Amino acid sequence: MISTDTQSSQTLFDTAQTILVGGVDSPVRAFKSVGGTPVFMKEGHGAHLISEDNKTYIDYVLSWGPMILGHADPVVTKSVIAQAQKGTSFGTSSALEAELGFLVQRFFPSIEKIRFVSSGTEAVMSAIRTARGFTNRDTIVKFNGCYHGHPDSMLVSAGSGALTFGQPDSAGVPKDFAKHTVVFEYNDTEAVKNYFKTNGNEVAAVILEPVCGNMGVVLPNPGFLETLRELCTNHGTVLIFDEVMTGFRVHEGGAQALYGIKPDLTCLGKVIGGGLPAAAFGGQKEIMDQLAPVGPVYQAGTLSGNPLAMAAGIATLQQLTAQQAFQTAKNQTDKLVSGLNDRIKTFNWPIQVQNCGTMFTIFFSKGSLTQLDEIKTCDKRAFNRFYHEMLESGVYMAPSQFEANFMSNKHTDTDIEQTLNNIEKALQKIESL
Ligand code: PMP
Repeated sequence: MISTDTQSSQTLFDTAQTILVGGVDSPVRAFKSVGGTPVFMKEGHGAHLISEDNKTYIDYVLSWGPMILGHADPVVTKSVIAQAQKGTSFGTSSALEAELGFLVQRFFPSIEKIRFVSSGTEAVMSAIRTARGFTNRDTIVKFNGCYHGHPDSMLVSAGSGALTFGQPDSAGVPKDFAKHTVVFEYNDTEAVKNYFKTNGNEVAAVILEPVCGNMGVVLPNPGFLETLRELCTNHGTVLIFDEVMTGFRVHEGGAQALYGIKPDLTCLGKVIGGGLPAAAFGGQKEIMDQLAPVGPVYQAGTLSGNPLAMAAGIATLQQLTAQQAFQTAKNQTDKLVSGLNDRIKTFNWPIQVQNCGTMFTIFFSKGSLTQLDEIKTCDKRAFNRFYHEMLESGVYMAPSQFEANFMSNKHTDTDIEQTLNNIEKALQKIESL
């Protein structure tokens, strides 16, 4: 029975744990990394979330990225309600899919053909299969610290250093699958170059987050993306930019617009569904036409191109332009980052911010961080204390040192100022401990 009474997050989490595995439907929500009880949210409005305990938070998680217009944007909400009243799923084509397709293409001109799916994981899994079908090759190159959802071949990482033949990172991934994934350190241009000298013609695809968000925000070193583009072009390898997170977030047109590099395939998710389950992959027509029903690579989905999700995506992308949402959110991010840099100067803590567009991470370390090994040296205990101080003060940030935070166009100067004051107080407190 669903209760409408106010219940504490602790009570709700206790109940959830009796039916949901670990009390959650996605592991990061369980607060394992920072400890404590996850906060159960019941409402979101603009830049704010309201918990079941009736506490209001300034939200920098924004559903892990999608809510660039903030929660319950009136235009998106109206559009979703209007579509729900007409029906939520037909299992047929609808006009909405091509409409969203053309809208996405306006932001991402490298996408000549697109296919909608329901999650980033599905987009990556399908893009990889398409690349393998197109090239008739098995090997995939990925980078340590990049997250691409949970397709088998992507749950593989490597120890530090150059290449390793992949060991599965998760139980349940057959070694026989993992061996087709080759992992390099992010930004290790030379190692990839060397690998391609002898193995380039066997690589189906190179996949990466062109700006990494999933080890916290890490930028590509100058020349990294350019070299990958060149290697892929020279060896007939498909270059896949996983812009599930960076799409519409580091630039309206993603990292490919920011850095002026055209991938062969792009994976999108998060913002394109406006908070509903939609994702997509797309790119060069010749490669995409490998997909059924045109080509031999099979891929399908009962809820793919779902009308409700398409309506939310269309309204979001239209409002992105109408509200100049990206620029506003970026300006607010820049204000937060510059305010933070001013304030952290006075602390002895090794602490710094890395940011790109509307994404930022506060790292408890010094010096610029360019790959996972360096990031692992961050002071996790300090981060966790800081995290709980911030939560207590009403600021909801990503519950792990190794994640990006996000800004919406609804975060006001007052939100930013309050966040900065709370950060300062939190740092003073943990410094005194
Ligand atoms: N790729 C990237 C870059 C992501 O950040 C994520 C999710 N955080 C995914 C893929 C997987 O998306 P989903 O959670 O929708 O499956």
